[in-house]
Amino acid sequence: MSQQQQQRDYYEVLGVSKSADATAIKKAFRQKAKELHPDTNKSPTAESQFKELGEAYAVLSDETKRRTYDTYGHEGLQGSSGMGGGAGSASGGGRGSANSPARGSDLRVSLKLSFMEAAFGCEKTLEVRRLDTCTTCHGSGVAPGTKAESCSHCNGHGQVRQTAQTMFGQFTQVVTCPHCNGTGQVIPHPCTDCHGEGRKEQTKPLELTIPAGVDSGTRLRVSNEGDAGWKNGPNGDLYVVLNVAIDPHFVRDGYDVLSKIPVSFSQLALGDTVEIPLLKGVQTVKIPAGSANGTVITLRGEGIPQINQPQRRGDFRLQLEVQIPQKLSSAERDLLQQLRQLEQERIAKKPKAETTKSGEEAPHPSGFFAKLKESLLGH
Ligand SMILES: [Zn+2]
Ligand SMILES: [Zn+2]
Repeated sequence: MSQQQQQRDYYEVLGVSKSADATAIKKAFRQKAKELHPDTNKSPTAESQFKELGEAYAVLSDETKRRTYDTYGHEGLQGSSGMGGGAGSASGGGRGSANSPARGSDLRVSLKLSFMEAAFGCEKTLEVRRLDTCTTCHGSGVAPGTKAESCSHCNGHGQVRQTAQTMFGQFTQVVTCPHCNGTGQVIPHPCTDCHGEGRKEQTKPLELTIPAGVDSGTRLRVSNEGDAGWKNGPNGDLYVVLNVAIDPHFVRDGYDVLSKIPVSFSQLALGDTVEIPLLKGVQTVKIPAGSANGTVITLRGEGIPQINQPQRRGDFRLQLEVQIPQKLSSAERDLLQQLRQLEQERIAKKPKAETTKSGEEAPHPSGFFAKLKESLLGH
């Protein structure tokens, strides 16, 4: 009855050539069947040979199966021929764990944070929906005051033998007991709170401390806060995936922060001292005279704290971005026009500048710039 017996070529079994037609195959089968039938043939191998003959005929008399057999041999027919279809592999290896405790599932939730909450850490309360051990039956699934009983169908083994009758004989296989799902026990009075499952879906608040320095996509693992284990198995874990909101003023680059600072042309040209809002507090920053538009000033250690060593922080990089006024007062317009005139004169003079006395170059010395600065910065 072993499935592992070596298999002879079906054409050889029937004693026909590979090109034999359906009629020849049928004829050969009838003749061999008469010879080998266990009722008349008392040789000890007759029964197995008769069975082999049946298999060979079942395949070669079926056009589709014959084609498969011709192409792939015996392997091509596994599970589809009249061989009892892989009975040997159905004895249920992986189901042996049905009796033992199982770890609860891991859960995954996402959590939104503001830019500042992510940068400096925060305390959050999460509402997590998960399977918790049923408090009524303490996870047993059995109604209080009653007991689980041994499954009478499988005598508590969790597995039963099943016999299948095929045209080639009986095949026995071991399968998971359908009455107890392999647990070997039945619960005559299931706990009404959890319907015998031992666990119950509940929403429970969970206090979480978010460390400083986290970012979008950071995954925090909270041990044992996933689904409760089954039959007192260990709990699963909870994974909290963070999603950090975009901030209108600050852009994050790892632990560094980028911030654009609007400045006027005169601030760049003349230099200035400005108050810059940082992540925390403000800092007085000097803009050097003659700064180009787009100049980046780096303030070391004023960025985001590093996730596992918050005493170390990234840098704060501020970029000077010139703002061209959309509306000008008449005083501003006058001054800018004067400035343009000076610029044009300077350009016109340039080729001759080397030979002329330098004293002529600025017809309106410091007074002009002082007025311009006062006008554009006077706020
Ligand atoms: Zn219960
Ligand atoms: Zn059972």
